[in-house]
Amino acid sequence: MKKGHINVETENIFPIIKKFLYSDHEIFLRELVSNAVDASQKLKVLSKNGEYNKEVGDLKVEVLLDKEAKTLTIRDNGIGMTAEEIDKYINQIAFSGAEEFVQKYKDSDNKESIIGHFGLGFYSAFMVAEKVEIKTLGRYDDAKPVRWESNGTTEYTIEETEKESRGTDIILHINEESAEFLEEARISGILNKYCKFLPIPVIFGTRTEKIDDPSGEKDDDGNVKKIDNVVPDQINNPSPAWTKMPADLNQEDYTNFYRELYPMSMEDPLFHIHLNVDYPFNLTGILYFPRIKENVEIQKNKIQLYSNQVFITDNVEEIVPEFLTLLHGVIDSPDIPLNVSRSYLQSDSNVKKISSHITKKVADKLKQMFNKDRKDFEEKWPDLRIFSEYGMLSDDKFADKSKAFHLIESTDGKFYTAEEFKEEVKATQTDKDGKTVFLYTNSKEEQFNFVKAANDRGYKVLELQGPLASHWIQKMETTLENVSFARVDADTLDKLIQKDEEIPSKLSEKEQEELKPVFEGTVNKDMFKIQFESMSESEAPIVVTQPEFIRRMKEQQAVGGAGFMGAFPETYNMIVNSNHPKISSILEASGDERSQKAKQLTDLAMLAQGMLKGEELTNFVNRSIELV
Ligand code: ADP
Repeated sequence: MKKGHINVETENIFPIIKKFLYSDHEIFLRELVSNAVDASQKLKVLSKNGEYNKEVGDLKVEVLLDKEAKTLTIRDNGIGMTAEEIDKYINQIAFSGAEEFVQKYKDSDNKESIIGHFGLGFYSAFMVAEKVEIKTLGRYDDAKPVRWESNGTTEYTIEETEKESRGTDIILHINEESAEFLEEARISGILNKYCKFLPIPVIFGTRTEKIDDPSGEKDDDGNVKKIDNVVPDQINNPSPAWTKMPADLNQEDYTNFYRELYPMSMEDPLFHIHLNVDYPFNLTGILYFPRIKENVEIQKNKIQLYSNQVFITDNVEEIVPEFLTLLHGVIDSPDIPLNVSRSYLQSDSNVKKISSHITKKVADKLKQMFNKDRKDFEEKWPDLRIFSEYGMLSDDKFADKSKAFHLIESTDGKFYTAEEFKEEVKATQTDKDGKTVFLYTNSKEEQFNFVKAANDRGYKVLELQGPLASHWIQKMETTLENVSFARVDADTLDKLIQKDEEIPSKLSEKEQEELKPVFEGTVNKDMFKIQFESMSESEAPIVVTQPEFIRRMKEQQAVGGAGFMGAFPETYNMIVNSNHPKISSILEASGDERSQKAKQLTDLAMLAQGMLKGEELTNFVNRSIELV
């Protein structure tokens, strides 16, 4: 037996490393199983290259739990190691790697953020084990089996041992505070999280399946009887869909893989994007578009990040732009650095490239769908709209590309791109300053009156809804040339789209002065500003409007904008149509009758905006009954 001393400065670095990794001990298993998988893959490569000429056999990784002995063993039949190789790869490299880690992060304040990303490799075994043994037989003809052991100090022993078959056993003697890792459920949970798609079969425990009775005995219905058959339980799918070529997969394969990824999900995705890049960075994956609707919050299925089929995290905010986190699926890239802090990730050039590649792919896919089958795209649009709006608002490149497919819907159910809509309404809805006004409503039910009035004039009205609408409108106004947006109830139509022709007012200034206090007496003066306007006789006698600016500010604040607007009072304009015969009739009346009539008209205007409520509404109803 040979005793040795691992060549590191710190006498005992294990306690330090344990402290760093306290919250994420479980990754030791990911690391050890990954090593076992690597050892198997290496053997495959050697065999292919003719450097290994013996039988490769069925490569697999087994995870074995022995509660009594308090050990957890990770077994592979890969390349194995000779004593020299152990000395080189375990004693020197592995430990110096760990030493480097400790030195690097000793004073870091964001230890937490490193955890889970940093692959400590073999060394992480000591987070949960008081003693680690390696029993291994190398792949060479004359290889002798060796046993290495260390108890978590820098001391180790290495000696000859007995081992018949090629490969490596890593035996962890689980320490007292890590007893959880002797629980079957815990281990299977970890394996399912990190190892579900590793490329070599990973076996843990057994599972019972029903098979035909070999005796061929039949039951009463004449079917061959079933018996229980206990088989090793393989926890992984070694060739998940994303590792295959898109040409080899059909729609069903993609849907099945979605269900495999998210067994709890009730709804199938809308469509998918298969990512497959090998230059200038390596990236594979499948992204799925969920049915988003208005429910941006309900995106429970997160994108999973893998590195060579090893699960790394489902926290990909730093790697993909935020709006893409609405998507589901998998991205796999060995080029995303895992051993760095999260804040560093964002500035990494590969991460940036990957992120903009994904953005581009997503935009291209949407455009391609739009071009291929517009009708189908329009049907899917309600599920895509919020996503696209979000993308346009958060990513300028996406915004630019989205011009080709982002749709807006008019109240008569037609879909347009912004440019198409501009063409459609340019002739009728351009004001005297040359601005084309996109009229919109956020509810064609609630604003029925206003929409109808606009339609009656030959104007088209868009339906723009959802939490992002007003931010999106703002963005469109800065990108579309000579276009402004106005909600149908933001002002009178004459004011919203100002044309040259002026309608003369029937009421003189003096008469307006006389009537103003009458109307003011019918409403809350702080909330409503009375204004006279010379509108067409066919328009309503009075309309309540809320200026576009005030409403937008309020809406944006509601989705998380400028906080100070909270103090902004609700204010409305009450616009009196000075040409309406009913208004003239108020002028002719006097006393109680005058204010009664005025009240009736302002109430009607409030009613049209859905603002007449409670006692006011009851009073209005009673008054109206009396008038009949
Ligand atoms: P890394 O895997 O990042 O190289 P590790 O500390 O995990 O670092 O492992 C160090 C080296 O030990 C590996 O590169 C490999 O050569 C060797 N090794 C570890 N586990 C095994 C194994 N199960 N079979 C064969 N070699 C192994």
